[in-house]
Amino acid sequence: MNSLKSEQIVIKGIGGSPGICIGKAYIVDKEGVNLVQRYWITDESIAKEIDRFKHAVAKAKNDHAMIIKALDKDLSENLNILETHMALFKDKMLYGKIIDTISNDKVNAEWALKKVSGQIKTMFQQIGDKYLQARANDIDQVTDKIMSYLVGAQDIKISDINKRIIIVAHDLSPADVSQIQLEHIKGFVTDRGGKDSHTSIVAKSLNIPSVLGLGTATATVQNDDLLIVDGSSGTLIINPEEDTLFKYEDRMTRFEEYMAGLERESHLPAITKDGVTINLMANIELVEEVVGAKDYGAHDIGLFRTEFLYLNLKRFPTEDELLDKYKELVELMSPNQVTIRTLDINGDKVNSHLSSIEEANPALGLRAVRFCLENEKIFLTQLKAILRAAAFGNIKLLIPMISCVEEIVQVKEFINKAITKLEQENKVFNSNIPLGVMIEVPSAVMIAEHLAEHVDFFSIGTNDLIQYSMAIDRRNRRVAHLYQALNPAVLKMIKMTCDAAKKKNIELVMCGEMAGDPVNIPVLVGMGLTNFSMNSASIPIVKKMIRDLDAAHAKDNLKKIMELNTVHDISEFILKEYKDILPFSDKDES
Ligand code: PEP
Ligand code: MG
Repeated sequence: MNSLKSEQIVIKGIGGSPGICIGKAYIVDKEGVNLVQRYWITDESIAKEIDRFKHAVAKAKNDHAMIIKALDKDLSENLNILETHMALFKDKMLYGKIIDTISNDKVNAEWALKKVSGQIKTMFQQIGDKYLQARANDIDQVTDKIMSYLVGAQDIKISDINKRIIIVAHDLSPADVSQIQLEHIKGFVTDRGGKDSHTSIVAKSLNIPSVLGLGTATATVQNDDLLIVDGSSGTLIINPEEDTLFKYEDRMTRFEEYMAGLERESHLPAITKDGVTINLMANIELVEEVVGAKDYGAHDIGLFRTEFLYLNLKRFPTEDELLDKYKELVELMSPNQVTIRTLDINGDKVNSHLSSIEEANPALGLRAVRFCLENEKIFLTQLKAILRAAAFGNIKLLIPMISCVEEIVQVKEFINKAITKLEQENKVFNSNIPLGVMIEVPSAVMIAEHLAEHVDFFSIGTNDLIQYSMAIDRRNRRVAHLYQALNPAVLKMIKMTCDAAKKKNIELVMCGEMAGDPVNIPVLVGMGLTNFSMNSASIPIVKKMIRDLDAAHAKDNLKKIMELNTVHDISEFILKEYKDILPFSDKDES
């Protein structure tokens, strides 16, 4: 492996967020914890192996005790979970059985730990009781902690990294990425992950280049290797040759200059050449992103993904905590609009602290509104906070993952309940706010006209609409080639939604990442869409495309595009037809 040091290696992945960065590799890999090998030990080594195990447990326990001791008062609700873990470190079933396995099976401690924890986990999972099933998760976390001491893996906290480096990880969760300190981390690459996964969305909003779905990055890269990350083309280059390095340094400079030029024009209005005004809004995850969104030229916040607050807190926030955040956000944006989307956890925004359910297919499981409708207290807390914040600014309420009329009817009952409670509590609030649903599940497209009877607006979520209509997991790199915004099936669904909104005379927004790619703009404007919400960093480049586009011409072209059968033909048509106005893309790069 070490002999590869100077050899250039190119690995193709999926562009997570555009831009280029060049820097030293820093491996954040907990994968060692999962890649445990079995080896046999001699009779003489048994005692030593048991000792090694006991040592690892003692260290993990010590760590854990420190965490409990340092626990913030505000987080004291978590004490229970932490104490459960502490008890597990000492648990006879786990601890005693592992020691027995080492001496009876004559295997290494890692293997014994893996085997015994697997058995106990299966036992818990098979019990009908939900509480005990959830303990399987605790076993995993405790096991990982002991394992990391056994295999010598470092448990690196992303927020603690203070070198100018590029992160190389097996996988990063959206919550991990949201902790990235931009002054230190230049970019990141991962083995796992797919296009428009939430990891890539957070990376785009941080404006940090990333390549996901590389498969073998952690196995190939070594700490301190020189890396080039090209997030636009989804390429990772390890130990580049001099020529390659020069080429990319030049490309990086040109890209940055081009983007800086666009940003300087971000205050210009988004009006097509023939006078159609387009409203460009920002998708944000954290209140802190508002300043950036305004700088990039966002008029409104078209999508506030509220789940990140919950993920970062690692517990359910209180109504007042939520109110504080929402109020801060609407006041910062006032008098412009803020669309607050209710909690969309599970799917790929999972956090073991928030969900005790293990699902074989989380994307098809108890996600978003389905979770909220089953968790009355959590949902009501959030709705009450949103209605209270609406007294301070211009709020729209958006519900994710609606797949049938019954769900929106139920949501409205919850809203009424929240209103009654607020009245009883004599709280100041405003219930006169527009209600909308995300159109992101194919069934919602098919019944869009019925849904329109119950709401004031639609917001098309192409990230999920593509995932669910093409039947591909957003995070799965193996099927990322089928993640096609311009697939005729996807375009037909968007067109159907536009037609339904027009017929029922309700407002229509698109807040999926599709709107953030200039290539898609002629199609979307051609369909009559005029409200786009996207990652703030994409606004300048999309604005440029809009300002160079003729909407009437786009409408004529749409007819031709809708006749085409393949994503290839559609892309070719667009690239040819709009080659003179498409902003900086890979075609400039060859
Ligand atoms: C979408 O699905 O397009 C969307 C905007 O929501 P999210 O990416 O948060 O699932
Ligand atoms: Mg979605």
